[in-house]
Amino acid sequence: MAKRQVEWLKKKFIELKSFYGNKCAICKKEGDYLEFAHVKETELNGRGRGMWKRYYDIINNLDSYRLMHRECHEYYDGVLRDYFD
Ligand SMILES: [Zn+2]
Repeated sequence: MAKRQVEWLKKKFIELKSFYGNKCAICKKEGDYLEFAHVKETELNGRGRGMWKRYYDIINNLDSYRLMHRECHEYYDGVLRDYFD
């Protein structure tokens, strides 16, 4: 991917985090170690399908994602599944 595109995505990613308030949707704490978790299905499901593809998917489906800590994400996946429906 072109360097310019990578820079754009990095910037976009920071914007996305602030769009979600830079805090975890589950425990509501702010933090640096937040990741985007699916709360609704998109065409791109699961972890590790390529970071950039995932960024684009988040940008195109803002409503299908929430920011979470990894531990909160695992808790969400295990217990809270329908929390955001
Ligand atoms: Zn959390």
